[in-house]
Amino acid sequence: MTTDIPLEADWDRAPNLLDGAQELTLTAGQCDLAYWLSAVAQGTLRGRARRGHATTTPPYMREPGPLREALVLELGNRSLSELRAVQVLSHYVIGAPGPAETEFFVTQVVDEARHSMVFRNHLLELGVPAERLHEQIAQEGADYTKRILDPISEFATSVVRDEGDFIGAVAVFTIVIEGVLAPAAELSERKWGLLDRAAAEIARGASIDEIRHLAVGSSIVREHLARHPEYRPRLIELVRRGRRLWDELPVDEFVLHREHLFQEGMAAHTELLADYEVFPGRRLLETTAEERYDLAERWTDDMARARLPEMGIPEAVDIIVTGH
Ligand code: FE
Ligand code: FE
Repeated sequence: MTTDIPLEADWDRAPNLLDGAQELTLTAGQCDLAYWLSAVAQGTLRGRARRGHATTTPPYMREPGPLREALVLELGNRSLSELRAVQVLSHYVIGAPGPAETEFFVTQVVDEARHSMVFRNHLLELGVPAERLHEQIAQEGADYTKRILDPISEFATSVVRDEGDFIGAVAVFTIVIEGVLAPAAELSERKWGLLDRAAAEIARGASIDEIRHLAVGSSIVREHLARHPEYRPRLIELVRRGRRLWDELPVDEFVLHREHLFQEGMAAHTELLADYEVFPGRRLLETTAEERYDLAERWTDDMARARLPEMGIPEAVDIIVTGH
């Protein structure tokens, strides 16, 4: 039996997240349940269903210290974020206007649940005891949950559940939530590329899914706007509300704390990382925590400049990039 895996879902041929999210057009109709069952379940995930990777973690990643701590914190918080996405997006399944959108969001809910699972499972490979796994993730992520996840998920949920605006909620999730998180995910894949191939593969798999989430979410908004130009002011207002909310969240506190741990940790691996470039022309070892944080922000802006005009809302670029 041969299954033709489309390029964007093929483990070896899919573009990276930044390029894919800027270049690919995919619609909910294309990415239906049958597409997911063949292209993703039997394509992207072949041989990687349980762990999200097909390699091993080097023993030094299990040794206590800043490098391990950076990854444990990152995976724990991302596992909580993905689990929260499952809950939020379940409201999108309920609010979906037709079968195409329903099927697509059912697959996205499964994708996010899988992300949560593989991030969590990798913690076991880093030596977190199975019986303490959930407790430790919840404990270490309590502050992150309260200060970041609660407000952002409350916003996205209320747009679809309370305001009854499915399209608006898709825009919020695509532009404000995943649009902002995607560059951080891309950075993570590149950071861990050599240090822990398993973590990088897990990130790669999540990024392949993410390209689809961003592309389909964009199409849903773009198609709606083309049919209902009168929706534009409401859409812009939601982007503004979402961006304002991001501004109030102390995301930098959490990210920079992890980046500083990573900085300290990578210093012990100068030989391994000697020639490794985080992007062409920039050696990972020479970067600082702040520089990596700024880099992800710059990618967010680049992505907004490419994607928002494509979605039909060029005026939203400024709102995302400058905050006004
Ligand atoms: Fe995800
Ligand atoms: Fe996603």
